[in-house]
Amino acid sequence: TPIVAIVGRPNVGKSTLFNRLTRTRQALVDDLPGVTRDRLYGRAKIEGREVTLVDTGGFDPPADQAFAAEVHAQIQMALDEADVILCLADGRAGLTPQDQEVARHLRRTATKPVVWAVNKVDGPNLEDAAAEFYSLGVEHLFFISAAHARGVPDLLEALAELLPPEGEDEAAQDLGEVRLALLGRPNVGKSSLINRLTGQERVVVSDVPGTTRDAVDTPLEVDGKRYLLIDTAGIRRQGRVNRGLEKAGVFRSLRAVERAHVGAVLVDASEGITDQDLRLSGHVLDSHRALIMVVNKWDLLAGDEYRQKILLHELEMARRFAPWTPLLFMSAKTGQGVKKLLPTVDQLFAEYNQRLNTGQLNQALSQITEHHPPPLVKNKRLKIYYGSQVASRPPTVVLKVNDPSRVHFSYRRYLTNELRRALGLTIAPLRLIFRGKQE
Ligand code: GDP
Repeated sequence: TPIVAIVGRPNVGKSTLFNRLTRTRQALVDDLPGVTRDRLYGRAKIEGREVTLVDTGGFDPPADQAFAAEVHAQIQMALDEADVILCLADGRAGLTPQDQEVARHLRRTATKPVVWAVNKVDGPNLEDAAAEFYSLGVEHLFFISAAHARGVPDLLEALAELLPPEGEDEAAQDLGEVRLALLGRPNVGKSSLINRLTGQERVVVSDVPGTTRDAVDTPLEVDGKRYLLIDTAGIRRQGRVNRGLEKAGVFRSLRAVERAHVGAVLVDASEGITDQDLRLSGHVLDSHRALIMVVNKWDLLAGDEYRQKILLHELEMARRFAPWTPLLFMSAKTGQGVKKLLPTVDQLFAEYNQRLNTGQLNQALSQITEHHPPPLVKNKRLKIYYGSQVASRPPTVVLKVNDPSRVHFSYRRYLTNELRRALGLTIAPLRLIFRGKQE
């Protein structure tokens, strides 16, 4: 799914627009329990296309002369990682020097399409006032009210046209390699793991957070099988830009997930599982990628049964949204447990590519629904006519039903689990899509 980045000053209405666009998303995983809904990124549908929407956050200038640097850093991040950039301005505040600075900077450096939206334009008077934005001379300019949804459809239509053509993402192409993204918070051990896997100090590991280094894809060949390790550690900068470090890391992770088949989310055993780890895991599945959870630094809990127990319990709770997700324990530092990773990736990738047998699928379907018929929803009962696989990566099944609105979420979960079992999917996700008769 393409990435659309929203940039703009604080208070121009980025979150209002963000909420409006992401509200109606249909996630593959149920909302993760215990996870605060993240405002930083979310899924949205633009003219029927799924996209990931990223709020790059406000560039909040501590002092005027620092503003340019801050803007440039945020915009650079968006230009590097996004497919389309959506620049938001405040029509009520009018055209500001900052807007002009942003436009000037983008004109010089933009390598991706840019769309401007002047927000808070709620009436004809304001529209006149907002007209000064034409002086920016930008190609795509819209006047909207995110709060009242005014002008938003036109904006979305323009955005949709600027998205990269469908089927162009790298992960869809077969390059004869398994693309594995290593995801996780800074210092969780991503680079150490890459070094372990390659047996070389390809990436400089440092104890000092904020040290500079480069992110590069690392090709790897083991037993004639080819992998591409996608590192998300990225470039770390010293100084004030560090405030946005975690954010930049997340942004980079989103892009890495887009490029990967398999996303390995690393969890730091000594720190326990965090909201960030869960959000990343959810994002991997929502992006229709295969997920592995890796508990790294397991050596730090050696001999400490109490802490091990607590962590195992945490993991069990956290993984309830996708209990079939493979879970590995390792130490990138000592090498313990690392050799299980690639065989697990192989198995996962094989299931992820699986083609299902239609006869077997429908036989399983009728057994499953007979054993446990759908519950009444609003006094009506769901009827499932038949199923067919429409895609792999991950195996995706369309179920023809009388009325998709009668799918109870618990029944969806039951169906998914039972179908997975019947079709031999042990660790890969299965995607179910319910379609009505007319669709
Ligand atoms: P990254 O930011 O995720 O790439 O993390 P690094 O690979 O740079 O590792 C951060 C720090 O954690 C370094 O000091 C590593 O030596 C240390 N580290 C990485 N993996 C392990 C592990 O399995 N066990 C222990 N004890 N330390 C580790």
